[in-house]
Amino acid sequence: MKILFINLERRNAFHRDAIDRAISDVMLANDFVGGRFVEEFEWEFSEYCETRHAVGVASGTSALWLTLKALGIGPGDEVVTVPNSFFATASAIALTGATPVFVDVEPDTHTMDPSKLEGAITRRTKAVIPVHLFGQAARMSEICSIAKQSGLFVVEDACQAHGALYSGRRVGSLGHAACFSFYPTKNLGAIGDAGAVVTDDEELASRVRALRDHGQVEKNEHREVGFNSRMSSIQAAVLSEKLRYLDVENQKRRKVAAEYNRMLAHVPGIQLPVEREEAVHVYHLYVVAVNDRDAVSATMAQAEVGCAVHYPRPIHLQPAFQQLGHGPGSYPVAEGLAKRILSLPMQPELTAPEIAHVAGSLASAVALPA
Ligand SMILES: *Cc1c(COP(=O)(O)O)cnc(C)c1O
Repeated sequence: MKILFINLERRNAFHRDAIDRAISDVMLANDFVGGRFVEEFEWEFSEYCETRHAVGVASGTSALWLTLKALGIGPGDEVVTVPNSFFATASAIALTGATPVFVDVEPDTHTMDPSKLEGAITRRTKAVIPVHLFGQAARMSEICSIAKQSGLFVVEDACQAHGALYSGRRVGSLGHAACFSFYPTKNLGAIGDAGAVVTDDEELASRVRALRDHGQVEKNEHREVGFNSRMSSIQAAVLSEKLRYLDVENQKRRKVAAEYNRMLAHVPGIQLPVEREEAVHVYHLYVVAVNDRDAVSATMAQAEVGCAVHYPRPIHLQPAFQQLGHGPGSYPVAEGLAKRILSLPMQPELTAPEIAHVAGSLASAVALPA
C-alpha cells in the first residue's frame, strides 16, 4: 500500500464541483482581482473567526508582513517569535526592517514557552508572534498577559490552525490581529496562493487594505508606499465554497489523530502529539518525535509511506539569518525537536486501513535496531 504524505487530488476531489462552479462564476463576472468575491469571502471568514474584519491578501507571508507594516513596525524594532516555524514567520519580520528575536518552545506542544518570553523582551520590542504550530494554539493566556504588561502587540501566526479553539474561542480572535495562509495544503486551502489578516481593529484593517494595494485609499490616491498583495477572486470564490466544510474536515482530522494515538500509544520510543486541555487541536500536521529519526524516516520511505519533517533546520540556524549570530545551542529545545520530529500522513480523507498501515509501518520502523 503506497500512501502519499498529502494527496491533494483526493483533498480536492470532494470539492471539485464547487471549485468548477466558483471558477465559472468568476469568469462570468469578469471580476478577477479583489471585488465582490473577495468581499464576500472576507465577510464569511471574519464571521468564522469571530472577528470584526478580515482582509484577503495574496499569501500568508503577505498577511504577516502587511500586518507588521500596518502596526508601524520597522527598522530599529524587535519582534519576538519562535525558531521552529515555517521560515516566513521570521522573514516577514525581517522584511519590515525589524529584527526577529527568538524564544524557545515547550518540549511537548512545540509552541512558544511563555516562561522564556519575558527574558526576550527589550525596550525595542514592539510585538510578539506566537505560532499555532501544527494546528494547536500556543499558550495564549500567558503570552497575551505578558504582552499586555510590556505594551506589545500580539499577532497570531494562525497559518496552520484554521478553526482551532483556545478556551472556547477561535484562534484568530485572541490577539490584536491574526494571519492565515490558504496555501493548497493548509486546512483551508485555495487552488493557488492566498492569505488573510483578521482583526477587531478597524484602523488596522483599513491600513492593511491600503497596503495590499500600493497604499491606495481611493483610486489614484496613494497615502503611503505599499505593494501588490491583493487576493485573486478565483481563490476567494473557491475558499467561500470550501469554508463551509472546514469544521467537518477538522473533525475528521481529529479522528485520524485519535486513531494514530490509539494505535501508537503502547509502542515504545514514540513521543505522540500532546493536546492542551484548554485547546482544540485541528491537526494540520500529526507530528511524532522519535530517536534516530533519519533512519526511521528512511524505513518509512522504503515502505512507501510519505512522511515529512517540519522543520529540519530551525530558523535561527538558516544561512539567511547568520548575521543574527545565533549558533547551535542557542535554542536547545527547538534544536533537539528538529532532530527527532517526523510528520505522518494527515488529511481528512485517510481511510482506516491506511491509518493502520501508517501506524504499523512506524511501529516496525522504530523497532529496528539502529
Ligand atoms: C504556510 C505558513 C506561512 C506562510 O504562508 P504562505 O501562504 O505560504 O505565504 C507562515 N507561517 C506558517 C506557520 C505557515 O505554516
